[in-house]
Amino acid sequence: MAARLPPSVPRMSDILAHLIENNRRWVQGITAQDPEFFKKLERQQRPEYMWIGCCDSRVPANEIIGLLPGEVFVHRNVANVVLTSDLNCMSAVQYAVEVLGIRHIIVCGHYNCGGVNASLEDMAHGLIDYWIWPIKQLQRKHPWLAGLDTPRRRDATCELNVVEQSFNLAECKVLKRAWSEGQEVDIHGWLYDVKDGRVRDPVIRIDRVGDARTLAASAEETIRRRHCP
Ligand SMILES: [Zn+2]
Repeated sequence: MAARLPPSVPRMSDILAHLIENNRRWVQGITAQDPEFFKKLERQQRPEYMWIGCCDSRVPANEIIGLLPGEVFVHRNVANVVLTSDLNCMSAVQYAVEVLGIRHIIVCGHYNCGGVNASLEDMAHGLIDYWIWPIKQLQRKHPWLAGLDTPRRRDATCELNVVEQSFNLAECKVLKRAWSEGQEVDIHGWLYDVKDGRVRDPVIRIDRVGDARTLAASAEETIRRRHCP
């Protein structure tokens, strides 16, 4: 016999009823404009873009770039880290490039990123410290960061992190193979500003013909000059 909740415990469906209602209205709004919308989505997804971004709730991929379901393939984790040892991220990239034939991959960091800020603190945060370890290494790789005040150091590290993760993506086997076979797929490193909702100028763009190492070094130098005039 199924256990019954005591009357004082609200059912999950009641607690989240407003979200279910939001969903109903959302479906209503979309089908009012295009009655076939979900039928078409069910048949296939053919997005042109992949988004690799932070988990932060203030940085929702589709809304920021004004795209509907089916138009952007999304992978998110804390501080938009791209590691070739991360099976989750690499599987998503492989599917995006080899199956969906994605044309553009956007690696989007954001200012005031909790993961990046934590990497700059000299204290333990728990398991997350293992995840943000590669971001911590940016301090050693770019010693000039130590001379900046905290807000600038945070901003500069967010930018350098996007360059680093874009470079890691360019170095992964999936992209290397795609490019060697002539597939056109570009990597775009972006920064999103949570305080005004705007995407800033790209910090890096890597395509099939560019040398990722040279492009990353040049992007890092531009960031250094901007923060250390
Ligand atoms: Zn973040």
